[in-house]
Amino acid sequence: MLRRVLVANRGEIAVRIVRACRELGIESVVAYSQADRDSLAVRESDRAVCIGPPRSEDSYLNQAAILTAAMGTGADAVHPGYGFLAENADFADACRDAGLTFVGPPGDVIRAMGNKLAARATAARLGVPLVPGSPQVRDVSEARAAIAEIGLPVLIKAAAGGGGRGIRIVREESQLDAALSGAAAEAEAAFGDGSLFIERYIERARHVEVQVLADRHGHTIHLGDRDCSLQRRYQKVVEEAPAPDLPDEVRNSMRTAAVRLAAGVGYENAGTVEFVYDRQRQEYHFLEMNTRIQVEHPVTEAVTGLDLVQLQLQIAGGSPLPVTQEDVTITGHAIECRVTAESAAEGFRPSPGRITRWSAPTGDGIRLDTHCFSGYVVPPFYDSLLGKLVTLAPNRQQAISRMLDALAGMDVQGIQTTIAYLTELVGSDEFRAFDISTTWIEQRAQAHLTPEGAPRR
Ligand code: ADP
Ligand code: ADP
Ligand code: MG
Repeated sequence: MLRRVLVANRGEIAVRIVRACRELGIESVVAYSQADRDSLAVRESDRAVCIGPPRSEDSYLNQAAILTAAMGTGADAVHPGYGFLAENADFADACRDAGLTFVGPPGDVIRAMGNKLAARATAARLGVPLVPGSPQVRDVSEARAAIAEIGLPVLIKAAAGGGGRGIRIVREESQLDAALSGAAAEAEAAFGDGSLFIERYIERARHVEVQVLADRHGHTIHLGDRDCSLQRRYQKVVEEAPAPDLPDEVRNSMRTAAVRLAAGVGYENAGTVEFVYDRQRQEYHFLEMNTRIQVEHPVTEAVTGLDLVQLQLQIAGGSPLPVTQEDVTITGHAIECRVTAESAAEGFRPSPGRITRWSAPTGDGIRLDTHCFSGYVVPPFYDSLLGKLVTLAPNRQQAISRMLDALAGMDVQGIQTTIAYLTELVGSDEFRAFDISTTWIEQRAQAHLTPEGAPRR
C-alpha cells in the first residue's frame, strides 16, 4: 500500500485526492503554486509544499519542481489528477526513474494512447470501430486529398489534442486553409506539437464514454457508461450516467470494446474510452482514450457506489481490484453540472475574484465537489471550474428535478457563475426529453441571438 502521496494538482480534484488519501490512511502532500497558498487542498492536507509562481509553466507543469517536492517530503507516489501533467508520458517515466509510483498507467501506455493518431492505429488493430479519418495531413493538398475520400463536413484535429483544443470544423472547402492554420497554431501553443489529422464529422452525434479500471494482475473491468453530449466548444458542460437512450446491443458492444482496448494495451489504473454515437445509424466510433481520472468521474461513482480515486490509489499500491465485473451494478441515474466562474451573458468571459458568499445545498442524493468557500479568491491563472454539482436519484427525471433544486439552492456572490445558465439547460424541454446532441448547446445559442448577434429578449 502507498504511504505518502504527493498531489500534483489544484482546485477541486486536489481536495478530492487529499480526502481519498485520508480515508485510506495514506498521508497527503499538496504541491501548490504561490497563487494557491490559501487553498482548501493546502489546508486539508497533511503537508504542503510551494512549487513555484502562479503561472502553470512555473508550477503545476514544472516537472523538476514537483519531483523535488515529492522526494524532499518523502512521498512514495504522485497523483497527477486531470489536466496539467496527468497525460504526460515523460513525467510518468520521470516519476518511475526517481523511484516514485505514478498514480496512472505506465509512460509507454500513456504514449500509445496520448497521441490520437497512434491511439486510432491501436484501436483499429484491436477491432474497435473508428470514425472514418486520415493519417497525419502535412499541408493543404494532403488535407484536400483526405477530404475527397472522407467527404464534408470534417473535423480538423490535433494529434496531441486534449481539452477541446486544436479542433476545427470544416463544412466547405473554402474554410479549409483557415481551419488548418488555426488548429495547428492552437495545438502548437497548447501541446508543443502541431500535427493534424482529419475525421468525418458525425452530425447530431452523442458523446458516450466507458469508464475502465485495470490492475497489475491482469484484471480489466468497466464501470458502465456516461453521456457527455452537452458540450460547448468541444468541452463538456453537463454529464450523466448511465448514458440514456442507448440500445442494449450498442451499450454492451461499446463496453466490451473499451475493455478489449484497455486490456490490449496493457492498461493499468483508471481510464476512459470515448466514443461518438451516431444516433441515426445506431453506430459508435472510437474517439480517444483519456489515461487519467476524468472530471466527470463522480456520476459513475454515484451509480456504482465505488470510489474511483480510492481505487486508483489501491491499484497504484499494487492491490488487485477489490471488485469483479459481476460485482459492478448500476443503480439509479446521476447528473453532473460543471459550475464555472464565467459570465455566460458575456460570451463566457472568465470571472475571477473574491467569492463573498458561497452557500451550497445539501441533502439526499446531492454531492458537491469543490474547493471554494466564502472568502476564497478565484485566481485568474487557471481553469475556471468552481465545482461539480452531482445529483443521484432512482431515475433520470428525478435526477433532473433534484439538480434543479440543488442549483436553486446554490448561492454564490462576488463573482459571475454559470449557475443560471446550467439551470436553463437542465430545465429545458429538450434536455428533459433527451433530444440533444453535441451541437445542441451551440444551436440553442444561435437561436437565442438576433441576426445581429445580440441576445434575443
Ligand atoms: P474530461 O473528459 O475529464 O472533462 P477534458 O478533455 O475536458 O476531460 O480535460 C479535463 C481537464 O484537463 C481540462 O481542464 C482540460 O483543459 C485539461 N486537459 C485535457 N487534455 C489536456 C492536455 N493534453 N494537456 C493539458 N491539459 C489537458
Ligand atoms: P479532446 O481530446 O479535445 O477531448 P475529442 O477527440 O475527445 O478531443 O473531441 C472532443 C469532442 O468533440 C468530443 O467529445 C465529441 O463530442 C466531439 N467530436 C470529436 N470528434 C468528432 C467527430 N468526428 N464527429 C462529431 N463530433 C466529434
Ligand atoms: Mg475527449
